Amino acid sequence: MSDETPQVPLLPTSPVGSLPKPAWLARPETLWAPWELDGRELAEGKQDALRSAVHEQHRRGIDIVSDGEQTRQHFVTTFIEHLDGVDFAQRETVRIRDRYDASVPTVVGAVSRRQPVFVEDAAFLRQQTDKPIKWALPGPMTMIDTLYDAHYKSREKLAWELATILNEEARELEAAGVDIIQFDEPAFNVFFDELKDWGIAALERAAEGLRAETVVHICYGYGIKANTDWKSTLGSEWRQYEESFPLLQRSTIDTISLESQGSRVPLELIELVRGKKVMLGAIDVATERIETPDEVAETLRRALEFVDADLLVPSTNCGMAPLPRQVAFDKLSALSAGAAILRNELAFAAV
Ligand SMILES: [Zn+2]
Repeated sequence: MSDETPQVPLLPTSPVGSLPKPAWLARPETLWAPWELDGRELAEGKQDALRSAVHEQHRRGIDIVSDGEQTRQHFVTTFIEHLDGVDFAQRETVRIRDRYDASVPTVVGAVSRRQPVFVEDAAFLRQQTDKPIKWALPGPMTMIDTLYDAHYKSREKLAWELATILNEEARELEAAGVDIIQFDEPAFNVFFDELKDWGIAALERAAEGLRAETVVHICYGYGIKANTDWKSTLGSEWRQYEESFPLLQRSTIDTISLESQGSRVPLELIELVRGKKVMLGAIDVATERIETPDEVAETLRRALEFVDADLLVPSTNCGMAPLPRQVAFDKLSALSAGAAILRNELAFAAV
């Protein structure tokens, strides 16, 4: 492992996070899909799926490789399952991101991490590729939104404790060779008062002291019905990023990940994080239609009015776990092909 992030081309492509799992590992097109294997077979199956996800990313021209979240059932829940102080048998129904009800585990005592959660998986990913690797963790605010707190009785206090735990995990991921650590904070598009009061501070606590590049991913969610119904209530312009972006621009976080393709997010909002890297969603995860390379290129081209080319990372709007596998992989190809079009244009313009 070197201290330097491996070299990447201009407009390096990267998936936000999850990719569909093979059908022999978990039920396809399902969130929280139960595993189809157990014991040693499950452990081997997860590694085989991760290998396959890396292989597809290589084949599809992806520059910053992720694990495709093949070893976890869900981007938030799996991390929480590894914590002490949370009782999964004691469940309460809460409203997730003000959008849909879910039965969630209860915080019954001080939260702590028994042991590293993803560090072995990340070390395994590191062995599979020479490209820079990115690992996603849930952000503190998004984590507390999927918990019922019967112990701290304070969302802020619980978020701070979780941020401290996330920081321990992130430091160990970095030591295992992870180049980029991403915190998923879709809750930043919902809880604006808390975002200002303690949300950004908790995120910075989670990222404190890291040498690895840091990303915060904020989105409008997977393409599931509860999210598409919510989006239909948001009007003709989605300006939620206006709340978080000015604060993130002044934060210690290196990269801001947002969605664009097929969304009603005004691209000029990117101006609010001027100076930061921008991971731009040029692939819609709420439709199975494959974008054409030209459509991807056009989205990136329009973004370049608001972000310098050397700070733009073409990406997907969100994770692709709920999509059919072939669709997700073809969307990765479209992402790479679109980025290549624009890369050529920029090279030509520079001559
Ligand atoms: Zn997302």
